[in-house]
Amino acid sequence: MRLILLGPPGAGKGTQSVFLTKYFHIPQISTGDMLRSIMQSDSSIANDIKNIINAGKLVSDELIIKLVIDRISQNDCQNGYLLDGFPRNVFQAQALEKINIKINFVINIELSEKIIVDRISGRLIHPASGRTYHINLKPPINQGIDDITGEPLIQRDDDKVETVKNRLSIYYQKTKPLIDYYLSLSKLNNNAPKYLQISGLGTVEEVRDRILSHIL
Ligand code: AMP
Repeated sequence: MRLILLGPPGAGKGTQSVFLTKYFHIPQISTGDMLRSIMQSDSSIANDIKNIINAGKLVSDELIIKLVIDRISQNDCQNGYLLDGFPRNVFQAQALEKINIKINFVINIELSEKIIVDRISGRLIHPASGRTYHINLKPPINQGIDDITGEPLIQRDDDKVETVKNRLSIYYQKTKPLIDYYLSLSKLNNNAPKYLQISGLGTVEEVRDRILSHIL
């Protein structure tokens, strides 16, 4: 099963990815996570990537396409994978087609801008595990502290309100055209990925069940 998860930042892609990858026994390939791990490394591009991410902009297509192609050639991807955060524009989507990657479903999780800003700007994470909380929607037992390890929680720099607004405007400008792209592709060609439009409103389980009811 090869899946692409689309949707604005904060629509719940990360949460649904965890569920879908377990369900289908496939790895999650999150380009944002890959970039954040390079950002923390000693490499020469770490600083460039950090500046781009913290400004809410997109890193170069060339770099991201190389990272993804290398990753999906690895052994654990033989039975499929879930792409989270890639493609981010039509050029990146065409790069997948050029190397004949057959995607089964493109799942687009939709949510309004206001709900997104509330969701992301209240998000807290435990950096070591990636566990996420929300100031109002899913608060930790003790304020600012991870429930499991007792370590401090942080707000990702790119989750700050100003950066969220930049990320959203880039999403509407660059990533939204992907939706039209996949929609018309799925109408034209039976072998093309099936396009699913899913509302991101409601609980994690409700969104999950909506997705599964279309795939199974
Ligand atoms: P995410 O965690 O998917 O929201 O990604 C965080 C940041 O990483 C984005 O705001 C971009 O700066 C960068 N990024 C992630 N995926 C891509 C991609 N496919 N193309 C370009 N930049 C990306």
